[in-house]
Amino acid sequence: MPELLKEPVELSTGVYLQIPIRLILLDDAIIRSNEAEEVLTFGYRSLGNRFIIPWRKIKGKLRRLVLECQRGLGIEPDCSLKNDLCCKCPTCFLFGATGETSSTKVPYNILSRVYGETFISETTSEAITPLTQNAVDERTLKTGQALMTILTVPRETVFRGVVTLKDPTPEMAAILIHNLQRLSRIGARSVEWGRAETAIDGVRLSDREELSAFLAMSGRPQPALDPLDILKLPAYDTAYKTFQKQVQKVIERVARKAGKDPDEEEKE
Ligand SMILES: [Zn+2]
Repeated sequence: MPELLKEPVELSTGVYLQIPIRLILLDDAIIRSNEAEEVLTFGYRSLGNRFIIPWRKIKGKLRRLVLECQRGLGIEPDCSLKNDLCCKCPTCFLFGATGETSSTKVPYNILSRVYGETFISETTSEAITPLTQNAVDERTLKTGQALMTILTVPRETVFRGVVTLKDPTPEMAAILIHNLQRLSRIGARSVEWGRAETAIDGVRLSDREELSAFLAMSGRPQPALDPLDILKLPAYDTAYKTFQKQVQKVIERVARKAGKDPDEEEKE
C-alpha cells in the first residue's frame, strides 16, 4: 500500500487518497433551476432515475470552506474567489488556479489536486416529477419566456460520492477532511439546498482511483476501506501552517522555472 507523501510535489507521483462521502439532507431541499444545462436528476440505465449533485457544485462549496478556514487562521487573507486568486496559498495549491487570469498575473498555473465525481442519491427520484413553470418577470409580473424547473428533494435523502486527493500529504488530507466535515449546506445562485450533514465512511490510499459511488451503487465490488485514524493526521490548524510553508517552497521553484522558460520570454 502506498503511503502519504512527506511534502507536496509539483509533478504527480501517482498516489491517490480516496474519501467516500455520504451527504445526508436534514431538511427538504427545494431546487430551482432556470439554466437549461443544469442537470438535477439523471436517468441511469442501471440505477434508474436519481437526484444528482454535479461535482463542480461540491467542489465550489468545498473550496470556499477551505479558503474561509485559511483566512480565519490569517494565511493569505487577500486570496479571494472573485478572480483574485493569489496562486500561492494552500487553497490555490489544493484546488488549482490560472496565473494569467488572476490579478497577480503570475506566469504559471496550478493544477487541482482535488478531484470528484457526480454525487448520486441512494434512492430513486421516480416519485417526484420536476415541474416546469414559466418564470415570472419581477418587474412586470408577467410570465416570461424562461422556463424554470422546480424539484423537491425529501429530507433524509442520502447522496453518495467519492472525493479524491492526488499526491496527498498528511497536511493536505487534514485540511480537506476537516472542511469536508464542515460541509453543512450546498448552495448556488439558482439552487437552494437545505441543511446537510456529511459522513466519511473511511479512506482508501492506492496507486489508482478505485472507488466510485456510481460503481458501488451499481453493485460492483469495491475494495475495503481503512478507518480515517490510520492516516494519523495533524490538527487542521497546524496542518494549514505547515502546508503554507511547504507550498511557498514549491511555488518559488515553479515560479523560478516559469520565469526562465524561453517560450514565455518570447511572448512578452
Ligand atoms: Zn490563493
